[in-house]
Amino acid sequence: MAEEKTRITTDVDFEREGLQRGTLRVPHSRNSSAWGMILVPIVVVKNGEGPTLLLTAGAHGDEFEGPIALAKLTRALDPSELKGRLIIIPAMNVPGVQACQRICPVDGKDLNRSFPGRAGGSYTEMVAHYVSRVLVPMADAVVDFHSGGYSLNFAPCVIMHHLEDKARHEKTLDALKAFGAPLGIVIRELDDSGQLDTFVEQSGKLFLSTELAGGSTVDIDALSIGERGLWNLLVHFGLIAADHPAAGHGRTRRLVEVPHADAYVIAPEEGVYEPYVRIGDSVERGQEVGQLHILTSSTRAPVTLTAGLGGVVIAERSPGKTEAGDCLAVIADEYAP
Ligand SMILES: [Zn+2]
Repeated sequence: MAEEKTRITTDVDFEREGLQRGTLRVPHSRNSSAWGMILVPIVVVKNGEGPTLLLTAGAHGDEFEGPIALAKLTRALDPSELKGRLIIIPAMNVPGVQACQRICPVDGKDLNRSFPGRAGGSYTEMVAHYVSRVLVPMADAVVDFHSGGYSLNFAPCVIMHHLEDKARHEKTLDALKAFGAPLGIVIRELDDSGQLDTFVEQSGKLFLSTELAGGSTVDIDALSIGERGLWNLLVHFGLIAADHPAAGHGRTRRLVEVPHADAYVIAPEEGVYEPYVRIGDSVERGQEVGQLHILTSSTRAPVTLTAGLGGVVIAERSPGKTEAGDCLAVIADEYAP
């Protein structure tokens, strides 16, 4: 069966030289707008021959450092300094960004669980389909910027998946080191189905993502780590000269890995989480990392949570109020290739 054609149109020409600011027009018929569209900002910068880098952010609408870093890059970059092409979408989940929500409020879907999407699907599915079927094939590498969002806070970091193909693993690790974050994480996901990460990796292309703080805030340090990482990657992929004034910020300093499900501390029931440890703290396997208070009961003692893995705390739940099944902390081990 022939691949379904996208319903999304755009006013940018991906082959045109220079910088273009335009939109992806996603059909969205609604009560207030019969032939309405949702407009997704897109910037394309092209100068001569060279690699194509696809830069995306805002898959989750409550994560802001990535969208800001990408928007700032489009204003700071002189197209004549570029060798190749950048395709930049700072806010893929526009309705989510407007509502400050992870999940797209138009269709209730998580964009980073919806790849490769459907041409004839909902807003989220149409955007996922366009990115995976139109944009990823044009790209040599894809970097998708995330932060922890409302529910999590992360040590600012650059992330890659553990890849079975050794050569591709090393090539991706090289780019991760070039990003120049304080922390680089090699992760084995609990559930990677529907992620852009997985789709790009299965397409045989290089993929990186980030987690830049969280709690739906804009963190000064995490933002600047994201911005520096962007410029460092442009140098790494040969898109700008190594002596560019915005580049040259050093390599990723510490490498850790999230090896398996024991790395995640999960709430066994509803309560209010009191952490005993901070992001960046070292913990031992079996160490108490926090307790869950059952504030609705005078008789229930708090529930103690322990680390299933020795290592460093790389993320913690941001809000105190917690439901059963929420991720309270993530612990990473030193990376041992
Ligand atoms: Zn995210």
